[in-house]
Amino acid sequence: MAQYISKYDIIVIGSGLAGMTAANTLAKSGHKVLLLEKHHKLGGLATWFRRQGGYVFDVSLHGFPVGMIKSCRRYWNAPIADRIVPLPRIVFDNPQFTLTTSFNREDFTRLLTQKFHLAEETVVEFFDTARAMSHTGDASMTTQQLFDRFFPGREDVIRLLMEPITYANGSTLEDPALTYGIVFSNFMSKGVYTFEGGTDLLIRLMQEELERNGVDIKVSADVTGISVENGEVRGVQTGKDLIRAKAVVSNTNLKGTIFHLVGREHFTPRFIETAEAVRLNNSSTQVYMGLKPGESINEDVCGDLLFCSAAPAFRTEMLLSRQITSRTFSFYYPKTRPGTENYAVVSSTNANYSDWADLPEAEYKASKEALIEDTLNALEKYVPGIRGKIGWLEAATPCTFQDYTSHWNGASFGTKYEGLAVSRELPEQIQGLFHTGSVGIIMSGWLGAVNYGFIVANNVDAFMLDQKGKN
Ligand SMILES: Cc1cc2nc3c(=O)[nH]c(=O)nc-3n(C[C@H](O)[C@H](O)[C@H](O)COP(=O)(O)OP(=O)(O)OC[C@H]3O[C@@H](n4cnc5c(N)ncnc54)[C@H](O)[C@@H]3O)c2cc1C
Repeated sequence: MAQYISKYDIIVIGSGLAGMTAANTLAKSGHKVLLLEKHHKLGGLATWFRRQGGYVFDVSLHGFPVGMIKSCRRYWNAPIADRIVPLPRIVFDNPQFTLTTSFNREDFTRLLTQKFHLAEETVVEFFDTARAMSHTGDASMTTQQLFDRFFPGREDVIRLLMEPITYANGSTLEDPALTYGIVFSNFMSKGVYTFEGGTDLLIRLMQEELERNGVDIKVSADVTGISVENGEVRGVQTGKDLIRAKAVVSNTNLKGTIFHLVGREHFTPRFIETAEAVRLNNSSTQVYMGLKPGESINEDVCGDLLFCSAAPAFRTEMLLSRQITSRTFSFYYPKTRPGTENYAVVSSTNANYSDWADLPEAEYKASKEALIEDTLNALEKYVPGIRGKIGWLEAATPCTFQDYTSHWNGASFGTKYEGLAVSRELPEQIQGLFHTGSVGIIMSGWLGAVNYGFIVANNVDAFMLDQKGKN
């Protein structure tokens, strides 16, 4: 008979934005909640790090849609929501076009009609079609087919519409069009937003709110198993501790939850087959560059986000290649952290885990150096003399992301679209077991993760109520 050291209504495994939002929502509903995080700080991929000399870098604070304000106000609190501010200058520079935009429907309509010479009716119909898409809609049309319908042969238009969304949620032309349409429309409603004060402040404010609402938080608590008996969840194992709970919400990678934490023997063969077929999303590389005190960046040239590429056209496979030239530069000015004089640049590219995971150590190191060199060469065009201005420089690869979050293959956005149905079916397979976090592209990114955390918390709440009725 298992010995449990303590007992909770609900245990949440993992403190990504979805896990924290689920924990907060459930605690506010009156449940006794324990949040377990394997890292020494909360946030998951919504994280930051500091380096000697006062350098501070945000890992995934590059931009999210305006919907984050409403979600944070409803599921978190006003001080968090009030710090969400627009990033007004999004710059594109590639062999097909160079432009600056506020990245909303009004400005995109202007660009598409005046710069790309498209008929206004086509543009209006395209926006309306994308806006009407929902995650329960028909998933048979691909994004490529959507573009072929509205903009046949217009590779330049496809690049403008697709490149930032591929960056924002890892979706490709081959994915269901609805994964594109939902995220694109979310951004187009009002443009790109950020959190003023940096990720460190956001996570601190969230942690304070969790504590106020009575969530017990344990960091450096790696969960190694979810115990299941007779098709029902019993609790979780962390270190030597077995902790009892009526429900468990896993915010760790969907596949990791099923195959590592629970074990395939607890699921039906049909479910396992479906779960095995779920594809992971791609991973990323990043280069973090902190400017020496006194150095600055020309905001008029660089904007807030810069999508640059030397590739002649947009191609999914080129975006994942090690020889990539497509990069997104996020520029952080002192306004990101008011009261400081910090200028930093983070360059991000999509990447394949397999291109990095099997490299011998020396080659891995050399590849990281090459990544840094290529990035500096690309940045030189926008920040002349960049090498002399940098005071801190380092890089992260798909292996880094896997190490820090346990996402299989270092996936930046969890799983592809088919993961959503598997995530939703977990409680039908094992009573009391839920999953929340990056799945299905639309439930990824900061906004998707927060919203999915809330959705799943409501399902857990209904389950708890149902259990109470039975007892
Ligand atoms: C390079 C990069 C750039 C990005 N840029 C943006 C952006 O600009 N805008 C945007 O909206 N999104 C961006 N994203 C995506 C966004 O950060 C994620 O989609 C979102 O933060 C994921 O939240 P999540 O709740 O799914 O959990 P995650 O952040 O994946 O967190 C899961 C947590 O679970 C913990 N955990 C895992 N296993 C265990 C275990 N066994 N025991 C205990 N704890 C465990 C992990 O340590 C982690 O803290 C980016 C992602 C990457 C990688």
